[in-house]
Amino acid sequence: MNEAALPQSTVHIAQADPDGILLVIHAGAGNRGKKDTPERRAQVEQDLNRALEAGYALLEQGAPAEDAVCAAIRVMEDAPEFNAGRGAALTSEGIVSMDSCLMTGVDGEVGSACGLTTSKNPINVARAIKEKTKHVMFAKPGNDLLKEWGIELCDSEYFITPARQESLREAQSNGDEWEKHGTIGAVARDAEGNIAAGTSTGGITNQMHGRVGDSPLPGCGTFANQSTVAVSCTGIGEAFIKVVAAHQVSDRVRFSGENVEDAATATLDEVAAHHGDGGMIVLPAVGRGVVAYNSEMMNFGYRSAQGGKVQG
Ligand code: ASP
Repeated sequence: MNEAALPQSTVHIAQADPDGILLVIHAGAGNRGKKDTPERRAQVEQDLNRALEAGYALLEQGAPAEDAVCAAIRVMEDAPEFNAGRGAALTSEGIVSMDSCLMTGVDGEVGSACGLTTSKNPINVARAIKEKTKHVMFAKPGNDLLKEWGIELCDSEYFITPARQESLREAQSNGDEWEKHGTIGAVARDAEGNIAAGTSTGGITNQMHGRVGDSPLPGCGTFANQSTVAVSCTGIGEAFIKVVAAHQVSDRVRFSGENVEDAATATLDEVAAHHGDGGMIVLPAVGRGVVAYNSEMMNFGYRSAQGGKVQG
């Protein structure tokens, strides 16, 4: 492979001060396609701000990091712009198949779900698995179980938007042009200094029936360890799985002593070597949060006591 042709990572620092409460969110990475208009960007930025407000308010009240992560993610799942919950990408069969994961750094507990078709907020399913079962991961949990866990269910019409139907038509007529935008994720550090990570996605437009990407896989698209980092990834899931991306960032910090920026950049270089692009948000228990991506763009936002930023 021609190394010079690999995408170069762009790194944003999400906080100037090394500690204190901090929420970092993303809503996908990829190329700015023809659907990228100033109106759409404004809508994305408005939705990112609403998600930051929902999550950051909880951190200010002293809530645990996972509460802020889930609150921010629920706002983005409900927003049809993003590839999760309402507006999730459609599979080759024209239905949604949603995945989610939530992990807390302080106890290493994790919940993960894949193949969801009826859960309004897939991140709530990941949280229920983490908190209400002794297991880590469920594939296609049935509606009875979901109801037992208190999950709000919706018909398929709720999830399927005209924009996603158009993307699927385009993907199927243009020979599988993968739509990469809009997976969502959040990492948070609470007032106790505890960190957590969550990710929610509809996968990739026109993905084969049964395909699962990196997002729900602990260590690949989502990971949190109190002694290293909380991570949520987005991009071509296959490449992130092959390099065990989120855990790799943690290992680089833990065993190689790399700083968070370098660990994220080096991991994205490995993703690129597997023909993948995308990005990640990374937050250590002590230290600056980082947004890193090697694709053309990434939707992200962050908020701390020093202020914040959104990029649509
Ligand atoms: N990583 C997700 C997946 O492969 C897609 C994305 O981030 O856009 O399912």
